[in-house]
Amino acid sequence: MLLSHWPSLKKWFLLESMEYPWGENPTGYSVWISEIMLQQTQVKAVIPYFLAWMREYPSIESLAQASEEEVMRSWEGLGYYSRARNIHKTSKHLFSLGQKELPKKYDELLALPGIGPYTAAAICSIAFGLPHAVLDANVKRLCQRWGAHEDWTAREEKLWTTRLDSIIKDISEPGLFNCALMQLGQLVCKKSNPQCEICPVSINCKAYQQGRTAEIPKVKKKSVKMWDSWALIYRSEDKILMEYRDSGIGRGLWSFPRISKEEPLPRGWRALMELKPLNHAFTTNRERLYPVVLEREAAESMGTLGKGVDVADHGLLAAERGGYIPGGSLPGVVFSTWEWVSLDQLRDRAVPAVYRRMILSLGG
Ligand code: SF4
Repeated sequence: MLLSHWPSLKKWFLLESMEYPWGENPTGYSVWISEIMLQQTQVKAVIPYFLAWMREYPSIESLAQASEEEVMRSWEGLGYYSRARNIHKTSKHLFSLGQKELPKKYDELLALPGIGPYTAAAICSIAFGLPHAVLDANVKRLCQRWGAHEDWTAREEKLWTTRLDSIIKDISEPGLFNCALMQLGQLVCKKSNPQCEICPVSINCKAYQQGRTAEIPKVKKKSVKMWDSWALIYRSEDKILMEYRDSGIGRGLWSFPRISKEEPLPRGWRALMELKPLNHAFTTNRERLYPVVLEREAAESMGTLGKGVDVADHGLLAAERGGYIPGGSLPGVVFSTWEWVSLDQLRDRAVPAVYRRMILSLGG
């Protein structure tokens, strides 16, 4: 039945939808990059990143030849950095095979790191005009309301995948259909206060007809973990101690060492100043960071001031407190490497956005 709404949906899309930079002359590469950036990130935030990315890495080849550090630096601020690592890994893989473009087959796309069913369907339909339906979060919400499904389980997912795949086969512009449905979900059938009065598919929408758009989908409460930490900014002359995470959350990024806020500050170091506390959100975790700039107390009380001593100090401190262990000498812990770096050097390093704000307030 949704197929019968295609003419009005198309008209709405052509007249009312938003124009985004990735909509102009889409290629497999540009659709791929935009779709990955749009996962877990608001459209408005993605636009400047997408434009900068396409200037910096206009092709698979240019991306494959960049270092991981450069790629992570370009992604800085978008969060969920595994997305950038997967894009980079895939570009290197394709480049090593001599492929300068993404494969055009759905199954071949699906086999690449970080490309799931909906990204593969978006690339196939928007870039290559193939009839694969996209069921992203916006389309799912729209379908859930349209069919007044109380829940969205594997059953509904399968039902709508089959239904949309069958509809799209009869449509001559599959990319346009997917873009229209995705934008309708994003702009009209919004999470709260859907704009049913202007919706081109409202006539057969069950949730609307039953007056249940506010109940569907049910809002799930996520349990959020929250804690407070010190962000330790060890300063020595004009350098600060940075930790490079080799694995786990924050892998490939530089940050300040952290310890629980309940712990005393490290022995042998005095707090020069505290910066404004900042929140760091990742997945369902919320960490309140209390940045504190630390300076060594009298050098004679701590022995020789030098890289080895300082790094070992923090490692010992972290080990005692069950925190991070530097150098990767123990099994089952997050491995990090450490380095004294100047604020100038940090400009080229990839740092999570919250730490970048701290660095900026230090004058970096
Ligand atoms: S009528 Fe309302 S609830 Fe139904 S699809 Fe349109 S915007 Fe969503």
